[in-house]
Amino acid sequence: MKSHLDSLLEPEARASSEDCGSAAPFFRFLDLKAQFEEIRDEVMQAVSRVLESQRFILGAEVEAFENEMAQMSGVRAAVGCASGSDALLLALMALGIGPGDEVIVPAFTFVATAGSVARLGAKPVFVDILPDTLNIDPAQVEQVVTARTRAIIPVHLFGLPAELDALLKIAEAKNVPVVEDAAQAIGARYYGKQVGSLGQFGCFSFYPSKNLGGAGDGGMVTTNSPETGERLRILRDHGATQKYSYELVGINSRLDALQAAILRVKLRHLVDWTEARRRNSNRYRTLFAQAGVGENVTLPAEPHHCYHVYNQFTIRVRERDRLRKHLNSQGIPTEIYYPSPLHLQLAFQYLGYKTGQCPEAEAACREAVSLPIYPELTERHLEAVVATVTDFYQSAN
Ligand SMILES: *Cc1c(COP(=O)(O)O)cnc(C)c1O
Repeated sequence: MKSHLDSLLEPEARASSEDCGSAAPFFRFLDLKAQFEEIRDEVMQAVSRVLESQRFILGAEVEAFENEMAQMSGVRAAVGCASGSDALLLALMALGIGPGDEVIVPAFTFVATAGSVARLGAKPVFVDILPDTLNIDPAQVEQVVTARTRAIIPVHLFGLPAELDALLKIAEAKNVPVVEDAAQAIGARYYGKQVGSLGQFGCFSFYPSKNLGGAGDGGMVTTNSPETGERLRILRDHGATQKYSYELVGINSRLDALQAAILRVKLRHLVDWTEARRRNSNRYRTLFAQAGVGENVTLPAEPHHCYHVYNQFTIRVRERDRLRKHLNSQGIPTEIYYPSPLHLQLAFQYLGYKTGQCPEAEAACREAVSLPIYPELTERHLEAVVATVTDFYQSAN
């Protein structure tokens, strides 16, 4: 079976020469090969160091990476694990969440945000998003808190921090912990503070398409409580406090030394790559403003107090599916994040949600489309995207 990542990287959108002569240049939605070329020697050295050591599970590389992540995030503990999904699961396990408990999540996010809750037998409670930021609406969170609410999981969707001030205020008043799903938002800041450091837990993913992506799966949980950090370390390693002595029922969710070694290399470049994503975003904004696409295209929100890291550059558009087809025919790849909201997925049908219950999430699923934003994009790419979008609306009218 082809993975999601394969399809992101595939040159499916190659324009044939007959179609458009000298038109748009061919490119990918995400170009990990371009990034690899830049750091090939460093990565090869790191891989070879681990192979020479023959230490593959946890160990010195993982510890060093955990320390570097903790330092970067400004948190007291960082615990590596097997994926971003497991980071969420481990945070909820550390909170002792299980059957009978409710956990508040946005309806517009990747499935793992809610899947982690359901996997523990707890009930995901879906909340609608704000139409401009596409992040969870704090006012609606407040309305669904009950005596059974055991956590709130805001997602910093596409790299933009959720409204943490309002959420933390509600959480504090109701004595409910906040688990930040920062899978798409490593390095993002909220009033100058790193995401993942403001709630009780921060959950990160190193899936290859994330801003800090490994050579496979990986994840990290951060916390400001060293005791909770210890609990997470026990939980990720079968609940063992020492060899064959189990204090808790845990899981096998450790970070590989190979991943940690590669991620340490890439972490050193993250600030530059993030700046490049932000430059591309600014360039899109200028080009779209000059093109005069008017009401047809709404660019992503970037509130002043947020440092957006643009894991995705997601616009809202009229006639989304037709626009996407047009872009594809001109060799310009796009992606839909997300085609349907979680409260209407078959997997969560048992919860009894109906169409219309999260109208903003449902609208975003119809209107949102993500444009290429990866750091190595060139001016030529950005201009081609904007020109082709503009052309679509001009020829339609
Ligand atoms: C990617 C992602 C996850 C899960 O991370 P994996 O490493 O793929 O398990 C969770 N939440 C969000 C919002 C994500 O984008």
